This record gives sequence, structure tokens and C-alpha cells, in this order.
Amino acid sequence: MQDTISGSISLSSMEEGRELKDRYDVIILGSGPAGLTAAIYCARAKLDTLVISGTLPGGQLMNTHMVENFPGFPHGIFGPELMMNMRMQAERFDATIVDDVAVSVELLNEPFVINTVDKRFEANSVIIATGASPRKLGLKSEELFAGKGVSYCATCDGPFFKGEDIVVVGGGDSAVEEAIFLTKFANHVYLVHRRDKLRASKIMQERAFSNQKISFVWNSVIEDIVGDKKVNGVIIRDKNEDRRELKCGGVFIAIGHEPNTSIFKGQIDMDEKGYIIVREYTKTNIDGVFAAGDVHDPFYRQAITAAGFGCMAALDVEKYLSSKNIKR
Ligand code: NAP
Repeated sequence: MQDTISGSISLSSMEEGRELKDRYDVIILGSGPAGLTAAIYCARAKLDTLVISGTLPGGQLMNTHMVENFPGFPHGIFGPELMMNMRMQAERFDATIVDDVAVSVELLNEPFVINTVDKRFEANSVIIATGASPRKLGLKSEELFAGKGVSYCATCDGPFFKGEDIVVVGGGDSAVEEAIFLTKFANHVYLVHRRDKLRASKIMQERAFSNQKISFVWNSVIEDIVGDKKVNGVIIRDKNEDRRELKCGGVFIAIGHEPNTSIFKGQIDMDEKGYIIVREYTKTNIDGVFAAGDVHDPFYRQAITAAGFGCMAALDVEKYLSSKNIKR
């Protein structure tokens, strides 16, 4: 398989230009593994299905390089390729997928209403599969240098840092995976972690520890990102409050994610971190509104578990619509 840069593949190129209706049996918000699996199941069950893709059609896997643990691909598969396949599979069963963003929802009365900037859709049921977005460090300089050396996606931006020193922040699987990936381009990668132990899985840790191009900066946080027109270093503070500058051309932030649930606030029950609370598998507090994937799952957060939840939500939608005599 070719070593392509995944971020360059656009899913929107596959749109078939289907005519949009005003009302659907089910509207699915989000087009990651949860949303598209739900779409495959709903559309195959002959439900009128609309998917509103969200800001990143294909979801987080569009920013992932090689996915090695999604069953069925013994040699791995590129994240964007996997998502392209899921999208084609949903469209094959006549799901309509629009690359648009839901900006507000009205879920307290039926039919449910989903608004994009310039369209209003009604739905007999809704699956929320809006996923989660990268968490930020919260530094002013992080905003200032966004796109000028600060990145949240190694797969998308790594090749721009050929021969440079790069800092990766975080200690989970994402940070370690990004650090390893970035060694393909970087002169050297410094992984800065706030503790002295990685959270990442053992196998990823072993790969990182044995990679000569990765150094670990333990018990340290990024206090500031410095540069002129673009990043040229970070200020690191260690646990003794000592500060030093580490020169680098790029900073990749991989410190976890936050659920994309702001438009549901006040209507859908959430926990203190904004994750949707589900009861009986995929049901939310509103009958007919279901949740699937990272938007309600802060624990497993895998493509395969998201896909599994998408399948469950679709089956729950079918049962719900049938119980309401909307679709048998
Ligand atoms: P994660 O597991 O939540 O790790 C986040 C990391 O960032 C932690 O090490 C955390 O430190 C650190 N962190 C959080 N907030 C921070 C802050 N404000 N400043 C500095 N550091 C901060 O997130 P993830 O790595 O994105 O992984 C999410 C899930 O996806 C996990 O279940 C992971 O296994 C999975 N995943 C799997 C693969 C794969 O299998 N190929 C690849 C990527 C992700 P602490 O450790 O101190 O809390």
C-alpha cells in the first residue's frame, strides 16, 4: 500500500448530489465510525436516512495514519480509506450524506428539528454521533501559532516539518503514535509529558522507547510557545518549577479530546465533562434520540467500539420507529 498522507483525501468528493428531503425517518449527526455504521444499518433497514457529516467528514480517523486494530484488515488500513469505505457502504444502501454542520437542534418536541446554517430538517428519530475534538493546552500562544507550527494532527501536518526538531505533548496512545509517525520527517522528536509514566498501551510504549529519534521529557509541561512568524521553540517547566527553552519548529498537541455536545446543552442530559449520558445502551433522556460513539464514551474511544455503538443505536432506532408505528 502506498504511503499517502491521509489528510489529503477528501470524502466530500464522493457526494452523489441526492435531492434533500424536508423530513427523514432518522437523522444521524456525525460521520465517524459511529455515524456511518449507524447509517449503514439504518439505510439497509430501509429507513429514510440523512447523515449530516459535521466539520470533519469522516471524523477523527481522517487524521489517523495507519489503523492496525480494526478487525478485518490484517495488514492495517489508512484511516481515511477506512472512512471512505464506510461512506460508500452507507451510500450503497441509499443513505444521504451531506457535508454540512448542524448549528442548532430542537429535540424537546416531535418531530425533532435539526438546523444547519441554511437548511431545516425534520426527523422522526435522531442519532447523535458527533464525537469529540482535540483538547487544547489553553495557551494564548497556542492560538497565535495555530497553523504556524502548532498542530493537532501529525498525519495532516507532519510532512511540513521535514528535518526539524518537533515537540509532541501528551502521554497517551495518540501522543506516542504521533511521535513515532513524526520521526519519519523530523530530525528529532521530543515527547513532553506531565508525569513520569506514559498512559499509552505497552506495545506503543515499547515502539517509542526503542526509537532512537524520540527523547522523553518527563514531569514537564509546556508553559509557552515562542517564535516569530512561526514556532521556533517552547518554554518547558518541570516539576521543580525550573524553566528552559527547547528549540523546535513544530508543536503537536495530543492531550485527549472533548465531546462535541455544545448544541445539545439544555436538552440532552450530559455529565460534568459534557459527555452524553445514555441509559439502556444508546438511549438519551429523550425518547427517539440516541447517542453513539465518543460523544458518550470517554472510556473505550476506539473506532471499533464507536462502530459497535453506531450499530446498536441504529437497531434501537428501528425498534423505536416500529413501536411508534412510523416504520415496521
Ligand atoms: P488519552 O488517553 O486521554 O491521553 C491524554 C494524554 O494527555 C495523557 O497522557 C494526559 O496525561 C495528557 N494530558 C491531558 N491533559 C493535559 C494537559 N492539559 N496538559 C498536558 N498533558 C495533558 O488520549 P489519547 O491519547 O488521545 O487516546 C484516547 C483513546 O484513543 C485511548 O483510549 C487510546 O488508547 C485510543 N487511541 C488508540 C490508538 C491506537 O490504538 N493506535 C491511537 C490513538 C488513540 P496523564 O496521563 O497525566 O493523564
